[in-house]
Amino acid sequence: MEGLAAAAQLLRPCRHILVFTGAGISTESGIPDFRGPQGMWATVDPDDFTIARYLRYPETRRRSWRMRMNSGALDAAPNAAHRAVADLWAAGKMLGCVTQNIDGLHQKAGLPEEAVVELHGNAHTTVCLGCGDRQPTVAVIRRVDAGEDDPSCLLCGAILKTAVVYFGEMLPEGAVEEAFDLADRADAVLSVGSTLTVFPAAYVPLKVARRGCPFVILNMGPTDFDHLASVRLESPAGTALPALVTAIA
Ligand SMILES: [Zn+2]
Repeated sequence: MEGLAAAAQLLRPCRHILVFTGAGISTESGIPDFRGPQGMWATVDPDDFTIARYLRYPETRRRSWRMRMNSGALDAAPNAAHRAVADLWAAGKMLGCVTQNIDGLHQKAGLPEEAVVELHGNAHTTVCLGCGDRQPTVAVIRRVDAGEDDPSCLLCGAILKTAVVYFGEMLPEGAVEEAFDLADRADAVLSVGSTLTVFPAAYVPLKVARRGCPFVILNMGPTDFDHLASVRLESPAGTALPALVTAIA
């Protein structure tokens, strides 16, 4: 694995690696990505994930809760790639992990909460759009399972929604700020399982790369920034990432 040796050599001296992750790191945990033939958008209408529709149509909310209940994503377990990120952190080589994923699998793999910046929210938390009350999504799913197909807030009666960013919604301001702050302080960036096509998220690794820092891309299939990569690895994350981390940590 020639590319892997080159990537290891570049990252070995670094102490503040920014790890940037997308859907591809979680496919081996059974969570579909978005754009592939087996991807989420092949089975679910992306229009259902616009905030305007969610607020307006009870049927959209019913479909959304059913999808969360049936997808199994909330019960998914981290894979070898998530564990490798946690290992890199434990080895003291990492500044933090900025993720586009909403599955919480980095934390489940042992990466401390303070090391994770979730740009698109987290499906394990549900928020009330009226009073702001937050609760575990599993508690809401239990109500859906018991027959409430569009559960509302038990405190104020307003609409409930998972704490994930829908199309048409702003990204959580604190998370964006924190992500770009990490990008300013990183001495290398390792992008795993992202096609780097979703903005503003993709600006985070780009910002590190533009400062001349090593930029390693690990992804199945091309990304929008392959031409800027110091090294590009075309491998499943669950295989390549543990090998890479072992080689540099
Ligand atoms: Zn409420």
